[in-house]
Amino acid sequence: MNKPVRTVSFHTLGCKLNAYDTEWHREQFLDVGYVEVPFGQSADVTVVNTCTVTGQGDAQSRQMLRRAHRASPEGTVVATGCYAQTDPDALAEMPEVDLVVGTREKTRLIELLNSTCSLGRTFVTRSRAADFQDMDIYNFGGRARAFVKIQEGCDEFCSFCIIPFARGRSRSRTLTSTVDQVKRLVDAGYAEIVLTGVHIGDYAGEDGEPLVDVLEAIDRVPGLGRFRVSSIEASFVTDAMVEFFADSERCCRHLHIPLQSGDDGILEKMRRPYRSADYVDLLARLSERIPDLAVGADVMVGFPGETDAAFRETLDVVQRTPLVFLHVFPYSPRGNTPASGMPDQVPPLVKKARGAELRKLGKAKADAYQRRFIDQTVDVLFENKRDAETGFLHGLTDTYIRVYAPGPDSARDRILPVRLESIEAERMIGRISEVGLRSEELPLS
Ligand code: SF4
Repeated sequence: MNKPVRTVSFHTLGCKLNAYDTEWHREQFLDVGYVEVPFGQSADVTVVNTCTVTGQGDAQSRQMLRRAHRASPEGTVVATGCYAQTDPDALAEMPEVDLVVGTREKTRLIELLNSTCSLGRTFVTRSRAADFQDMDIYNFGGRARAFVKIQEGCDEFCSFCIIPFARGRSRSRTLTSTVDQVKRLVDAGYAEIVLTGVHIGDYAGEDGEPLVDVLEAIDRVPGLGRFRVSSIEASFVTDAMVEFFADSERCCRHLHIPLQSGDDGILEKMRRPYRSADYVDLLARLSERIPDLAVGADVMVGFPGETDAAFRETLDVVQRTPLVFLHVFPYSPRGNTPASGMPDQVPPLVKKARGAELRKLGKAKADAYQRRFIDQTVDVLFENKRDAETGFLHGLTDTYIRVYAPGPDSARDRILPVRLESIEAERMIGRISEVGLRSEELPLS
């Protein structure tokens, strides 16, 4: 008799690292015979990969767990990810949740699920995870971009951040294993590799190799179209890295360097290891060496004690630097982090107003940056899905501009030259070059 098909669905909240972990779980479930169904449909197992980086992350995670249970009242709902690690009891108390698996037990998720006595329990290890778990992924849904996790955890303990508690201390993938994984993904047809980690600048290979050694090794992998670094802390961008970014033809001209605040007093209270002048100087050096570099940043508003003058300092730094993509978020107290007990908490309405002002500035800078490329031909890596509204293909330039263009399905998952023509309804519209479309091979950027 045939075994009944078991179904699984996934929902991910939060950052690229969570997206990576969900992809890994997906492969594990499919490998043991599960069939995936869209989240929101009835499934035997629903895995919700939670986020706790803000209060909103917690609330959305709980909301998705409740939704998972509503869709499959008879199915098993698993909560995993950062919220599951930092506050397993809160999730275990939810009647909709059957199993809580913390970040350090995540590679045992299916094993725990199969052991029926696990249900209704929490599996959260609080000890330091000594070794990096490679968690290789071979099929990332389409062949455009694949993420390679090279580092996990963080030792910085910024005063507002719960991540070191959620993901543990810093540990790295070996250089050999990283390069091998990149080679496998290139052989499988991926055109772009994104290196991810919680605190990637803290990378240390098996013999203590720094991040720049990984970048140089990946740059030499034959057949790789392009690669990028997901996010790096300002204090960890070394001179050698600046030179590498300037010289490499395959490393994208795009960096994400969190700012958090432009005020030195706030940076100190945040326990950030740089001051605003260091940040401004780094961005000036980078943009001098790398023309058209796109830099994005996380910026927090309403950290305890942030006065109007301190907020103006942040606006000033954003204004004066070549920052073009801002991720603005309001401070929210997290667990037992030092900042949650600090005096002078900022009222929500003030945070909201500051966030809106900063987003407006960010939008103006992003707009001005994108307009610089109109009438230029740039390489775009087209993704697998079409834009639902326009029906156009879409994808990213190496400078992280999302481009929409009419074109045939054969353009999917390929890097193609596109002439940028206009910005309409906040979309950059382009036209794919006929020559690029006719070529059978992936034109490399
Ligand atoms: S560097 Fe700071 S903000 Fe980033 S993960 Fe580590 S503790 Fe959190």
